[in-house]
Amino acid sequence: MTTPASSPPVLVLFRDDFRLTDNPALHAACATGQPVLCVAVQDEVFKPEGVIGWWMGQACTALATALARRGGSLLVPQGETLPVVCDLVKTTGASQVFWNRRYDPAGRETDTTLKSVLTEQGVTVHSLAARLLHEPWTVRTGAGQPYRIFTAWWRAARELGEPALPLPAPAEIRFAPVPEPYSTATTPSALHAPDLPADATLAAQYWPCSENAAQTALDEFLETALVHYETDRDRPDREGTSGLSPYLRAGLISARQVWHAARKAEARSGDHLNTEKFLSELGWRDFAWMQLFYEPDMPTRNLRPEFDQMAWQNDAEAFQIWKDGCTGYPLVDAGMRELRATGTMHNRVRMVVASFLTKHLLTDWRKGERWFYERLVDADPAMNAMNWQWCAGTGIDASPWFRIFNPVGQSEKFDPSGAYIRTWVPELAALPDKLIHTPWKLDATLARHLKFVPGSTYPHPVVDLKQARAIALERYKTLKPAG
Ligand SMILES: Cc1cc2nc3c(=O)[nH]c(=O)nc-3n(C[C@H](O)[C@H](O)[C@H](O)COP(=O)(O)OP(=O)(O)OC[C@H]3O[C@@H](n4cnc5c(N)ncnc54)[C@H](O)[C@@H]3O)c2cc1C
Repeated sequence: MTTPASSPPVLVLFRDDFRLTDNPALHAACATGQPVLCVAVQDEVFKPEGVIGWWMGQACTALATALARRGGSLLVPQGETLPVVCDLVKTTGASQVFWNRRYDPAGRETDTTLKSVLTEQGVTVHSLAARLLHEPWTVRTGAGQPYRIFTAWWRAARELGEPALPLPAPAEIRFAPVPEPYSTATTPSALHAPDLPADATLAAQYWPCSENAAQTALDEFLETALVHYETDRDRPDREGTSGLSPYLRAGLISARQVWHAARKAEARSGDHLNTEKFLSELGWRDFAWMQLFYEPDMPTRNLRPEFDQMAWQNDAEAFQIWKDGCTGYPLVDAGMRELRATGTMHNRVRMVVASFLTKHLLTDWRKGERWFYERLVDADPAMNAMNWQWCAGTGIDASPWFRIFNPVGQSEKFDPSGAYIRTWVPELAALPDKLIHTPWKLDATLARHLKFVPGSTYPHPVVDLKQARAIALERYKTLKPAG
């Protein structure tokens, strides 16, 4: 399609979809044949604090670099989305705005208002589906209600058939010139993303940020680990999972790309079992977003109201000890230190540390949820909240409160030789495999030989597991069913 050089641009807003491939908003904008102005507004929603803020900034820069390679740029104006976009529309004379839909409460509210204001001004808004396999309202019970149980939701989702095929990156992007008043608002100089916390020493090295890096992570996983996924996904001492969650979070890759690539790998290997298990994890991601869509206060409210009566201990010192990875339980401490240094933690270990905080330390899950949100490079409002409520037993399809993970048993089962613990708790590195899970059982002679001083080289356990478990079960018994 050819259009006059002076034709007004169309705007594409990027928020959590910093990619060229399978980006329906960008694709549709390019298909108009009009010049395209790529914009990422630095509002509060886009620029959260903590490690995730740094990561979103990295993703934004990566997109700007990819656009620059094609001769364009990314505009990153500061301010609230509504006035900034309205001003851009006025300044450029744009008659169409494109974006991919968001499902978090703040994002939805902003986008609903923006759409109605722009529509009133005669601007056509195109919002498209990009983030999930299935949008939250598309999978419903026969009675038209949202599902509350994952297995039933997943069955119904599968009946909708395979998700749409991913779109290719646009063959050509005809860039609009950056409007004069915004000439200094391009990346990287105009981007004000938070720095990494000083103690996140390994995050930048762990997480190269680009669409290519996401694709490489996917390819490597499909080639080497998918065929062992069912068993190895629970092993923090192995490279058993995809490592894709930060890339999915910033939209450097889409769930549909991952889904269809896994299907292709399945066709090559014939391995149905492991592929299905992996795809169902992508299903959990959708399920979390479906929950947040219908329960927008999921990050702050017990979805089982009887837990409003829970007498949490909320001991500030114990919470700090947990955050610092000094509980005296090696698997818990390894996970908490991995989180601080790298911005990630293995899923199995996330479950163990969350159970330990809420049940053994009787600390309100919301405190743990906030700490994770501050430190995770994949911090996601839906997945973090759903999983914390799952671990604490307060969620709608959750592990029951009385299922209390024993951090020693979990450690012996999933990190049998202690390789994961040795990586993150180096002061335990010399301990024999058998004792690395229970350093307090080291006898005096061996301790002397290893120059290991219990309580000094490594802390004594912060609580007695048996006693703490009994208290947790007692507290649970006092909850009365919500009326
Ligand atoms: C307490 C707690 C908090 C969590 N907070 C987050 C969070 O903020 N952000 C986040 O992305 N994940 C969160 N998870 C889920 C999970 O731990 C991570 O998605 C996973 O560790 C990412 O590693 P991976 O990409 O290698 O996963 P893989 O095993 O390779 O799984 C592939 C993808 O499936 C999805 N997935 C996997 N497990 C889950 C799950 N339990 N729930 C929903 N989706 C899942 C993710 O998108 C993941 O990238 C949390 C889990 C727990 C127990």
